[in-house]
Amino acid sequence: MFHSALLAVAVLTAHPQTQPATNTTDPVCKMTVDAQTGQTVTVRGREYRVCSKACADALQKDPDKYLDRDGNPRASHDETKPHQHE
Ligand SMILES: [Zn+2]
Repeated sequence: MFHSALLAVAVLTAHPQTQPATNTTDPVCKMTVDAQTGQTVTVRGREYRVCSKACADALQKDPDKYLDRDGNPRASHDETKPHQHE
């Protein structure tokens, strides 16, 4: 029991700068990524789930185009400015 907990901590601390992928939408093509068939790409110390090698390459090549300064996937091009009702 304790061993698995310690192992988890060891794994997490071994890569303190890499955050596991949490996105369910491909930042590049905006399609929903199936966790079974998708792949992950590490960009600036953070993993992103993408649908294909092509999107992985695009994301690594030009991350600012698809990610905001916090590293979160941008909204689609039609929604670059979140619309909020006051
Ligand atoms: Zn894609």
